[in-house]
Amino acid sequence: MRNIPFLNFDPMHRLIRSEIMQSFQEVYDANWFVMGNKLEAFEKEYSAFNNTKYSIGVSNGLDALHLALKSLNITRGDEVIVPSNTYIATALAISFVGATPIFVEPDTVTYNINPSKIEDAITSKTKVIMPVHLYGQACEMEAIMTIAKKYNLFVVEDNAQAHGATFNGKITGSFGIVNGTSFYPGKNLGALGDAGAVTTNDEKIANKITMLRNYGSEKKYYNEEIGYNMRLDEVQAGFLSVKLKYINEWTIQRKEIAKQYNESLKNIGDLILPTVHTNATHVYHLYVIKSNSRDSLKNYLSEKEIGALIHYPIPPHLQKAYSNLGYKKNDFPIAENLANTMLSLPIWPGMTNDEVSYVCENISNYFKR
Ligand SMILES: *Cc1c(COP(=O)(O)O)cnc(C)c1O
Repeated sequence: MRNIPFLNFDPMHRLIRSEIMQSFQEVYDANWFVMGNKLEAFEKEYSAFNNTKYSIGVSNGLDALHLALKSLNITRGDEVIVPSNTYIATALAISFVGATPIFVEPDTVTYNINPSKIEDAITSKTKVIMPVHLYGQACEMEAIMTIAKKYNLFVVEDNAQAHGATFNGKITGSFGIVNGTSFYPGKNLGALGDAGAVTTNDEKIANKITMLRNYGSEKKYYNEEIGYNMRLDEVQAGFLSVKLKYINEWTIQRKEIAKQYNESLKNIGDLILPTVHTNATHVYHLYVIKSNSRDSLKNYLSEKEIGALIHYPIPPHLQKAYSNLGYKKNDFPIAENLANTMLSLPIWPGMTNDEVSYVCENISNYFKR
């Protein structure tokens, strides 16, 4: 028996080891650890990658989303539309500014927010639509931007899982007025610790976020606003610059692995494989399948030492943290069904054909029993 983890950094990190060590050494020898050249360089590079005028490095993805909403003066009494099927961080960012998350069900095929259900959720208090490019697939951004324009709402993308994905050829994280992303180690572009960024084409917003992430201060010891310490440090910024050079190559590898899964797992049991919208691309942060026997399949794989995970077992509206919102079971049946049936299979850049085959064989064996 062999062990297939859910995620294995080794192939990526083997490739970049000497560049990472070099970058660390540069920071170590420069004795400059926060707000320096490495951050400045990474911000330029990430803006170029993400096709936005500005990118502001911050402490993590949650803080990036929080700062994005804060920069738009979203506050108590405001409503922000989010998918019911997302990681809790999207909703938490809304709570941090005192606003209320309003959940909208996902499309049953792409699992991303269903644009045709957004208008029903809009009220006089709605200020923002926050699409999440979940699992790495771009949301239907054209429809979402059209609705936002019609109702004069801001769009703030949660691009934590979709570095490099596109809709109609336009890269995610460049649609909204201001957007947040995460460089948590397991994300497609990951630091070696916590990190994130805000992306925008708006100079005023960029300046405001640059100030807010650094104690609300532009000039040292002069504070214009009540800000935060949400900075991205030099060591992580340097590591991210190294990894950014490889992201396109690593995305291609993720797509190839997804293709192999797609081919090997079709017509097995009741499995439903990922479907990509015609105008969208998918960068496969996660390769997520669906089955009614998800829990027993997951246990079977676990016995075979294959790491499969659930993203996510409890949707935000049913989390204890959000009991104050007063939701109950069946309020968002599509998201709840996904939570009960989704399973994320192992995927990482450098995962071999052999490893993918082994996972597929075991899944096939499970359904043959
Ligand atoms: C990871 C993630 C976040 C939060 O990013 P952190 O860097 O962990 O704070 C937000 N939204 C989504 C969809 C994520 O996957």
